[in-house]
Amino acid sequence: MAARDFTSELVGSFSEGSNGNPTVAMIEAAFRHHGLNWRYINCEVPPEKLADAVKGARAMGWKGFNLSIPHKVEVIQYLDGLGESAAIMGAVNCAVNRNGKLIGENTDGKGFLKSLMEVVDPRGKRIVMFGAGGAARAIGVELALAGAKSLTIVNRSVSRAEPLVKLLNEKTKTPTELVVWPQPYRVPEGTDIVVNATSIGLANGNQPLDVDISTLRPGMVVADVIVDPPDTRFLRDAKAQGCTTIDGLGMLINQGVIGVKYWTGIDADPGAMRTELEAIFAS
Ligand code: NDP
Repeated sequence: MAARDFTSELVGSFSEGSNGNPTVAMIEAAFRHHGLNWRYINCEVPPEKLADAVKGARAMGWKGFNLSIPHKVEVIQYLDGLGESAAIMGAVNCAVNRNGKLIGENTDGKGFLKSLMEVVDPRGKRIVMFGAGGAARAIGVELALAGAKSLTIVNRSVSRAEPLVKLLNEKTKTPTELVVWPQPYRVPEGTDIVVNATSIGLANGNQPLDVDISTLRPGMVVADVIVDPPDTRFLRDAKAQGCTTIDGLGMLINQGVIGVKYWTGIDADPGAMRTELEAIFAS
């Protein structure tokens, strides 16, 4: 008979506003599904307690933890190293305990990329992305590292978009241009992939993007980062134009798959996580 083990392996999340973050439900669904004696602890951590939280995780032998708002940049000083894309972005959302060293990774963009790759490989593709915030930064870096031919960042504020465009042009091989959002934006002919990485559509699935929808053409792949609700107006419009669409749930679920792989080494079943999230967002 196998020896009983009453000690769980621990991972979790440090953020403010943690009560609105469904990641714990998704990750624990994967642990249950795979029969793992692991727990994911969703912790409310204010900025002045972040150093102690990381120290505590080290003391308790946590296998890693996610970071969300407002810790993604500040946490770097408490870690022992960074993965390639996290180093370029200057932001970490997933720390991984590798032989006692906490290494910072960024799974935001990697989750998006994995979701996109199920439909199209961005290598050699012309890509338009709306937004220049944290999600856009992570996605832009991963698309560039994956070999995108060109990137056009369309954003309302120049102050947020300029540093992202500069970073992509200086630290990756993908030529990137900035377009200050004209009203409405017309997607150029020859565009292969269009990404909404703004928060437009969050909590209001009918909020429109200021885009001339007739410029979305069949053959384009259109992706949205919004998870709540995942069926955004932008995606519905794109589908009606004959585009292939990808919702934000795929990005979130694949972040979970990547995080679980980093921490436990297993390939988690995304189906178990999607079922859990769909139930949450339907209620
Ligand atoms: P930020 O606040 O960092 O950036 C928001 C972006 O949206 C900015 O570029 C901002 O433009 C733009 N924006 C907001 N409102 C408008 C508007 N009315 N018109 C034009 N542009 C607008 O947010 P994040 O990048 O962190 O997050 C963006 C979204 O991505 C959120 O909804 C978040 O939930 C989602 N997300 C989804 C994930 C997933 O796994 N699916 C993972 C991470 C995030 P400006 O600079 O002009 O203000």
